[in-house]
Amino acid sequence: MAEAVDWRKRHLDALREMETEERRWRGIEQILRRLVQRLCAAAMGNDARLDRQLETLCAATRRDADEPQLKALFDSLTGVIMAVEKPAAVAPATLPSPLPSPLPAPAPLSPVASSAGPVPERRWQSSCQAVDMLIDRLGQSDTRGADLTALRSDLAAAADDAALAAVLLRVSDLVAQHSAAIARERAEAVVTLAQVTERLGEMAKFLSGESAERARDHRDRETLDIGLLTQMTRMTDEVRTLDDLAALRALVTERLEVVASNVREFRERERNRFAENAARSERMHSRLAVLEKESRELSRNLDLEKLRSRIDTLTRVSNRVSFDERFAEELARWKRFQHPVAILVWDIDRFKSINDACGHRGGDAVLREVAIALSRGRREVDFFARFGGEEFVSLLVGSELGDALLAAEEMRVAVESLRFHFHGTPVQVTVSCGLTALREGDTVDTVFDRADAALYKAKNSGRNACIAV
Ligand code: GH3
Ligand code: MG
Ligand code: MG
Repeated sequence: MAEAVDWRKRHLDALREMETEERRWRGIEQILRRLVQRLCAAAMGNDARLDRQLETLCAATRRDADEPQLKALFDSLTGVIMAVEKPAAVAPATLPSPLPSPLPAPAPLSPVASSAGPVPERRWQSSCQAVDMLIDRLGQSDTRGADLTALRSDLAAAADDAALAAVLLRVSDLVAQHSAAIARERAEAVVTLAQVTERLGEMAKFLSGESAERARDHRDRETLDIGLLTQMTRMTDEVRTLDDLAALRALVTERLEVVASNVREFRERERNRFAENAARSERMHSRLAVLEKESRELSRNLDLEKLRSRIDTLTRVSNRVSFDERFAEELARWKRFQHPVAILVWDIDRFKSINDACGHRGGDAVLREVAIALSRGRREVDFFARFGGEEFVSLLVGSELGDALLAAEEMRVAVESLRFHFHGTPVQVTVSCGLTALREGDTVDTVFDRADAALYKAKNSGRNACIAV
């Protein structure tokens, strides 16, 4: 029972935590909506068609329009902005053609794709700062694989309101995703809490039924004992006073009849009680089986959720959270056994220009392919993760620095050999790598400082290189 009360407390605590988190996210969402309204007001007066769209968007954010409505408004606003601005990229001759494999077509409103030309004076400086602060606050929460570095650099590069709006939409998507996740978790916790409470009720009912049953049983036995004793005492007294054998036999027979009938009734009640008990036990067993199944499912879901929170959503390899955990483990193991471990920090060369040339979606496809190439051929004991943005990290467990450098070279060549095309033009993708091995007195920071310094050297040496320190 003490364990069950613990469960209830844990669920209530989790519920309270989620409610606080949800309130925080609602706050962020409100700020975002107000921000959209201010931005709309700031952008008014340029074009009548644009003004109409902005007024509709403004009204929609005021009345808390939902995601599909906002998405539809965003699309039609984008259409009007494209029509108003008439950028060169929209001219039929330069319309983006489908990107041949492995690159998919660029996003129609990729923020990077729209950032051609010099950055004009920014009219929304304070709005941009506010968005930047929002991204900071997003970074303090569990944003599961969201690339806030990319978001921040796209915000910094936003040269017109379409690019800024694209960044804002991504920020608000993140807020909406997180709110939905919290609401989902909360609903699950409520269901679990209700189930636990129901089970506790069932147990309590069963136990109180048991004790009532035992009390009845006890009373019954006492009644039978008293009945038997009374009949025996009476019989003994009467036998003493009777001389007549026939009368004696009749008396004994009568008393024995009473005793037999008492015993029969008692046995009948016992049989009923036994049947009731068996039925109740059966019910309890099947409820327990259901409970066990539910708790197994719950723990499976929790495991799945834990796994999901450790996978990078874009490349499907392990993410930074997962890497931090594993690296701390390897460092602790190294301190005990000094078994060699090498760390490889990867960075895609001139990725910004790949994004500029192929669009953000094209850049995303490059990230996925590079992740596959770098993780291919990895041994069971090794570990590979997306560290963030266009950076990856490998841990080669049991490899001395020299062997790790050979392995890194093979991985570098594997990326160099990938064939990407955009609009029929080959796009060369290369990576640079800084690597080092764990040493006496190392901490997470010292290892990374060394690997970063090596990566810096590799970049300075002309890129597409691996350097070990
Ligand atoms: P260097 O060779 O010196 O590493 O140059 P670089 O252009 O690769 O480095 P820089 O850090 O200037 O640019 C990294 C770019 O990666 C900027 C950012 O927009 C982009 N980026 C980061 N994350 C993502 C992502 O998830 N998807 C896409 N498409 N681009 C991303
Ligand atoms: Mg980088
Ligand atoms: Mg780079």
